[in-house]
Amino acid sequence: MTTELRSLQPTAETGGGTYTSVEDVYRQRWQWDNVVWGTHCVDCYPGNCPYRVYIKDGLVLHEEQTATYNVIEKGVPDMNPMGCQKGAMWGQMLYAKERILYPMKRVGERGSGRWKRISWDDALDEVADAVIDAIQEVGPESIIHEVTGAQGGPMALIPCIRFIGRLGGLSMDLDGVVGDLPMGLYEVFGKIFASTMDDWFHSELLLIWHMNPAYTRIPHYHFISEARYKGAEVVTIAPDFSPSAVHADQFLPVRPGTDAALALAMCKTIIDEGLHDTAFVKEQTDLPLLVRLDNHHFLNQSDFQEGGRQDQFYFFDEKSGSVVEAPRGTLDLGDVDPSLDTRHRVRLADGKDVEVVPVFVLMRQRLEEYTPEKASEICGIHPEAMRSLARKVARLKTNILLGFNSAKYYHGDLMERAMILLLALTNNWGRKGTGIRIWSIGPMDGIGIFGIKQRPGAEATIEVLDMLDRFMETMQTEDPARTREQAAVELQYRTAGMDNTTPPAFFWYYHCGHKENWNRR
Ligand code: SF4
Repeated sequence: MTTELRSLQPTAETGGGTYTSVEDVYRQRWQWDNVVWGTHCVDCYPGNCPYRVYIKDGLVLHEEQTATYNVIEKGVPDMNPMGCQKGAMWGQMLYAKERILYPMKRVGERGSGRWKRISWDDALDEVADAVIDAIQEVGPESIIHEVTGAQGGPMALIPCIRFIGRLGGLSMDLDGVVGDLPMGLYEVFGKIFASTMDDWFHSELLLIWHMNPAYTRIPHYHFISEARYKGAEVVTIAPDFSPSAVHADQFLPVRPGTDAALALAMCKTIIDEGLHDTAFVKEQTDLPLLVRLDNHHFLNQSDFQEGGRQDQFYFFDEKSGSVVEAPRGTLDLGDVDPSLDTRHRVRLADGKDVEVVPVFVLMRQRLEEYTPEKASEICGIHPEAMRSLARKVARLKTNILLGFNSAKYYHGDLMERAMILLLALTNNWGRKGTGIRIWSIGPMDGIGIFGIKQRPGAEATIEVLDMLDRFMETMQTEDPARTREQAAVELQYRTAGMDNTTPPAFFWYYHCGHKENWNRR
């Protein structure tokens, strides 16, 4: 463009004609033949932002974010315009020299870098032959689809998974394959927290922990800035001074892998200073449930009667001064006031007399090891910084912005559980602006429906939604104590099995040498 401005010479852009003025250069640069919808099938989250694509001479001239999303909540910024700098430059990548435009077949040793170009027909024939051979020689289950986001993002994955499912092959769980599975969240909640990112706007304290949203959540980073503009405090906890740390009010440079010590020291501060929310802890957590001290198992109905339920647990009720059944299927405590610190003795069905205590007592004992001073030696954060942040968490609506990093750690689940304990003590879930959010899977929305629909159109979507409703009713009929949310989770477990998704650990263990490594002493 600089050269053109200087010389005003004929170019392809002017159709061989000359520019008559600098303004003319500009006018012709911004002319196009038509505008279409487009997006980027790439592994970014959320991915698939809606873009307007400007076409000239059959090529992408440029792209532009759109503002097509509805306002969901009055007073809360909307999602518009959704996109990022990489998306805005996508057209240039389409025509980049490095882009591979046709199938290539390896003709040398693996790693030799020797490839030859083949036709699409030949490539498809070769793949189809290999699939048929595998089915005939071993069976369809020998076809393994290693699902990764790099296969074109969520939109592109669904047809691949459906295709493999129809063949009878196996698709490996995406989160398991790429190490994005936040096991701590599943262990505590049985699910991941799902909320849309505009919920950050409701927070008073945002803890960016194992995440770098300034780089990885570009389309939605504005909710963090907007929350801060409204008065929220932003704290980045990370070993590196990341781009997200630059925009934070406070940066805690934790040593890599020591986040659990930091979180537990904050929990200890909160309990020692009596800042925990007792009513929330009693209603929303398992901390009041009684544990047998002889075997450290939850006291359950099978301890009192032959064939009793193992998922029927107990509280010590302060009001009646007795051991009572904890409610199932609801968190509503009714008239019961569970104790957090009463030690008690119970007589079991086998005549044994055992001491039982609430989990809260055991947790407090465990936290003795995590004074801020001791934790500081582990995680490198000053004890007063931990105390100060703990007091803020206890006081403010706090959301932990968890990325996909803790899931990559061996025992990352324990880090996540320590973070969750911090929220559990401080009434920090179940309200707007609180919780711990990694991503919102939306299984029965958007791409989920796209994966199930049998044909295009709104009617097919309604059929899918009706079918899901019927499944949910069945789940609740099977066990009336199931809430609608629990029914949805149960349905997800079962349908995950039906579509041939399998944890990659089995494949790695039996076919990729993990067995030998795992069992090596
Ligand atoms: S986040 Fe960026 S690259 Fe990804 S779909 Fe949106 S605009 Fe495209």
